Amino acid sequence: MEAKETLKKYFGYDSFKPGQEEIIAAILDGKDVLAVMPTGAGKSICYQVPAMLLSGITIVISPLISLMQDQVKALNEAGIHAGYINSSLTEAQIAKVYSKALEGAYKILYAAPERLNSYEFTDFARRVNISMVTVDEAHCISQWGQDFRPSYLKIVDFIDGLPERPIVSAFTATATEEVKTDIACVLKLQDPKIVVTGFDRENLYFDVETIKRKDDYVLEYIRKHPNDSGIIYCATRKNVDSLFELLSGAGVSVSRYHGGMNNEDRKISQNDFIYDRTTVIVATNAFGMGIDKSNVRFVIHYNMPQSMENYYQEAGRAGRDGELSECILLFSAQDIMINKFLLDNKDFTDVPYEDMDSIKQRDAKRLQVMEGYSRTTGCLRNYILEYFGEKRNAPCGRCGNCHREFTEIDMTEDAKLVINCVWETKGRYGLNILLGTLLGANRARLKELGTIQYKTYGALKNRSESELRVLISQLLMEGYLYQTTDKYSVIRMGNIEPLKEPNTHVLIRTYKDREPEQQTKSRSRKSTDSLTKAGYELFETLRKLRLTIAREEGLPPYIIFSDKTLIDMSVKAPTDKQTMLDVSGVGEAKYEKYGERFIEAVTAFMEEYPDAVTSIKDEDDPSPAKSQSRKKKRNHKVPFYLNPEDADKFEYHDLYHVSEIKDELNRITSAENVKHIFGTDIFKLLTGIGYVEERQIDGRTVQVQTESGLSRGIVTVEKISKLGNPYTVLMYPPEVQKEIVEHYVGKRVQIESAEGDDL
Ligand code: ADP
Ligand code: MG
Repeated sequence: MEAKETLKKYFGYDSFKPGQEEIIAAILDGKDVLAVMPTGAGKSICYQVPAMLLSGITIVISPLISLMQDQVKALNEAGIHAGYINSSLTEAQIAKVYSKALEGAYKILYAAPERLNSYEFTDFARRVNISMVTVDEAHCISQWGQDFRPSYLKIVDFIDGLPERPIVSAFTATATEEVKTDIACVLKLQDPKIVVTGFDRENLYFDVETIKRKDDYVLEYIRKHPNDSGIIYCATRKNVDSLFELLSGAGVSVSRYHGGMNNEDRKISQNDFIYDRTTVIVATNAFGMGIDKSNVRFVIHYNMPQSMENYYQEAGRAGRDGELSECILLFSAQDIMINKFLLDNKDFTDVPYEDMDSIKQRDAKRLQVMEGYSRTTGCLRNYILEYFGEKRNAPCGRCGNCHREFTEIDMTEDAKLVINCVWETKGRYGLNILLGTLLGANRARLKELGTIQYKTYGALKNRSESELRVLISQLLMEGYLYQTTDKYSVIRMGNIEPLKEPNTHVLIRTYKDREPEQQTKSRSRKSTDSLTKAGYELFETLRKLRLTIAREEGLPPYIIFSDKTLIDMSVKAPTDKQTMLDVSGVGEAKYEKYGERFIEAVTAFMEEYPDAVTSIKDEDDPSPAKSQSRKKKRNHKVPFYLNPEDADKFEYHDLYHVSEIKDELNRITSAENVKHIFGTDIFKLLTGIGYVEERQIDGRTVQVQTESGLSRGIVTVEKISKLGNPYTVLMYPPEVQKEIVEHYVGKRVQIESAEGDDL
């Protein structure tokens, strides 16, 4: 099938993720599409693959500049011609993009929604064959969402103004009915194929820690996961600043991000994090929209967020690459106060007066749901999925609560007393009065209200306040009680009929953590666990190579290859083109650009450790004794050298690139049992002699010749990549080629004597 071939060729993936194939088939069938899939589910592929197969151009509307740049970089890396138009470009650059697009240079063009109605854009749109208009982050169209963008409402005018109506596809991770309906209506989708995939993110581990000493927790966590990239969300700018100070004081490689910083500083912070120059970022919820960084291994919420919608979106930034990642919420009762305060002070200037009340109620309701999540003793994943409308049964076994041992206490009698108390209040008071009354507190306010006269005053004084809070929140959850959502929220009677049955019990669960070992074992179960120790070393080696290449290219490392791809590469340890192309995430264009360097690295590694088994799966006998003895017996390869008679076989050429010299050397050597030589070895040699060096130019590492290299005739040649980007390479004349050859002939003597010493 064509779509599958496109997926393999450009993106290097063998199979589609859930929903993708269906969506792509519908688009190729000419249908409109509305797809609701969680973050990390792979929405981009759903429009990028068909865009390659449709005859004309696909216009993708995307809300953020950083998002567009990221996607276009990733597409170009995959060998797909794409461009973007937004305010980060100058007028001259924009004109160039239009003219290239008119020449048919792009299959995909990203545009900011504000552009669509400009004269230039509509004029351009009329002169080009548009096959599809894709609306990414389509929830921005809905006034119900957090991210409403008025300019999204104009998209439909743009589409209506086109000479021929293209296919329209819309993508979002927001699942609520209101938002879905808004998207379909506002965009005037025509009989769309609607695809909603499950919201579970299996690779995410959820946990809630109820603690006061959050700083200690964060420091300890980072100490235990020193190489993991992660986001820490705080409720306020002040929190961000103080946690940032704490972490950087403790030597953590950290950036910060919040709305109080100027644009320039925010951009620097964001890029440092994305380019893996810092491992951790501390931020308010201003950070994250438009971050496609795929190797975020943890998201810690330092404070409870205001809604499950927010929480799932922010936590969902972990593990986009499908690798196991952790989402931890640090909860303390104070978080509820902070959030109430933030909501009370929410800016309503842009909201029509008549909507204010319903929004306030909605906010209060959402906060309650979030509090329920923070306090529940049930499976956390199920709590989330149920909230988003998915019915679940068995606990997941992969969340903090599933790893805790709960004991149940029967609090049916206590529950009845609480209900009696609510009945006595006639539903007029809130949680604090209720608690005070039941505990028999000596408070002026209770006297004033007269609750000290109640039959239930002091009825539960043998219980602690926190036990009662747990009980009441359980009664609310089970519907026996009901809490209003206005500003002065009160507790009222819910449906207490079931409690009248003799068999009904109210069971409260308290917990203790399971054996710590057991917990850490299943928690830290990363997919690097499929690697042996040698495999992990190879993975680390490949990661370093990725970082080197990323610095050279000025690209974020995850755009070169994702962590998942490097893990698969470590498992398969490919030393030739075909096996390399079998690695998930290695498409043809990336193979052309980087394949050889990664093969070199794997080959070098395997030559160093010829018996290394990199993946647990094919390790027949992992016992250390055996691999030790294997190691001893293996015949050691020696570093590369030439025999004197080899030197004559070298075919000199006017100008050679290092990789050509390397190929020649490997071809002519008659020495037995020598390692391959790599381009990097030759470059190192020439650096040592002082002919060449690496320099930082505009944030990129560039190889250049020195004065003395120049005098030896080493030249810089300008080239244009397949995608039209200019780059330079160094070329070496015959004199230098000869010097290299002679060096490796000389090498033999040294090596032999060195080996001799060893024996
Ligand atoms: P979304 O926009 O839905 O949040 P993305 O489009 O950014 O998700 O994709 C998330 C990650 O999943 C990316 O790293 C992408 O390369 C990867 N991915 C997408 N489709 C597949 C697939 N069929 N097989 C493997 N990985 C995939
Ligand atoms: Mg996306």
